[in-house]
Amino acid sequence: MSALLPLLQARIAAEGPMTVAEYMTWCLLHPQHGYYTTRDPLGAKGDFTTAPEISQMFGELLGLALAQSWLDQGRPARFVLAELGPGRGTLMADALRAMRGVPGLLDAAELHLVEASPALRAEQAARLGDHAPVWHDSLADLPEAPLFLIANEFFDALPVRQFLRDGNGWRERVVGWHEGALSFGLTDIAPQAALEHRLAGTQQGDLVETCAPAAALTQEIGRRIAAHGGAALLVDYGSWGSLGDTLQAVRAHQKTGPLDTPGDADLTAHVDFCALAAAAAPAQVSWLTAQGVFLERLGITERARALAAGLTGAALDTHIRAHRRLTHPDEMGSLFKVLGLYGPGTATPPGLDA
Ligand code: SAH
Repeated sequence: MSALLPLLQARIAAEGPMTVAEYMTWCLLHPQHGYYTTRDPLGAKGDFTTAPEISQMFGELLGLALAQSWLDQGRPARFVLAELGPGRGTLMADALRAMRGVPGLLDAAELHLVEASPALRAEQAARLGDHAPVWHDSLADLPEAPLFLIANEFFDALPVRQFLRDGNGWRERVVGWHEGALSFGLTDIAPQAALEHRLAGTQQGDLVETCAPAAALTQEIGRRIAAHGGAALLVDYGSWGSLGDTLQAVRAHQKTGPLDTPGDADLTAHVDFCALAAAAAPAQVSWLTAQGVFLERLGITERARALAAGLTGAALDTHIRAHRRLTHPDEMGSLFKVLGLYGPGTATPPGLDA
């Protein structure tokens, strides 16, 4: 049984039902029993796989896209190279290897990683130790300097609240305890000032999600990029605007119920890129671009061909499948999207023009 379940039961008994955001935070980041606190969830033997774990091409191309922005912005002599939620450190290791080909870049870069999980910090240290990374609990602790930042499948792990439209008010979806198990419930109807702008585009019974931490983080990234220069590539699954229940639990590569195994399944929600874009000012915001289109524009097919030349048999098959998985609209190519943030008056990061 989940070690977290009796603790959740006690918390709900003492204080009443909790918001979905609070439930996500408990499940993912509880100091003893949280999903990310206790394990490395990535890869074939874990619960889910991400783009950098599928192919080295992903990290290489993202790294080179950031490198191009660094060149476009006059090669700042010292800058913060940052990643939010670096997982196993695979993406950044591939990015750094590709960036070695850009003269002067690595001498100017200071590597900073924002990571909550001790288990994953250890994985990152194993792959990135040569680059003397500095770890942080929060983006706010990064030095004030030009900021070149990557985040892949990070924002989807941030806690969302869910609200159901009822008349001109909203009922919040909460997690309570009913007949010996966790169960979803709804609060009484209340107006929500933060959702006034959603009344126009929604109907009775519609569910919308808000993610205050995602907006706050994007605001902080935008402020730093506008003040010091830099660029950010935010890659995740989601869409422009939020509509519908996207809370999802995945365990051993299978979907499960979000309340079934608290602390033992990954919990995510789709990213609302419209909310991120709105929070990014005064930084500039690119077009929201499908991952497949973005990677093709950066030359993934040429890179795939070059790598294929050295492969045969099963390794070649895996490589060809990986290219398809990252780019094809039926796989990750359309659901995953890229939003770029960049300094006022500077060039759009490559691959993200209209
Ligand atoms: N970017 C990696 C890993 C994605 S999984 C990849 O593409 O493979 C999500 C990552 O975000 C993990 O490293 C997890 O530990 C981290 N994370 C989740 N919530 C966090 C939070 N609130 N603060 C810091 N890191 C967090």
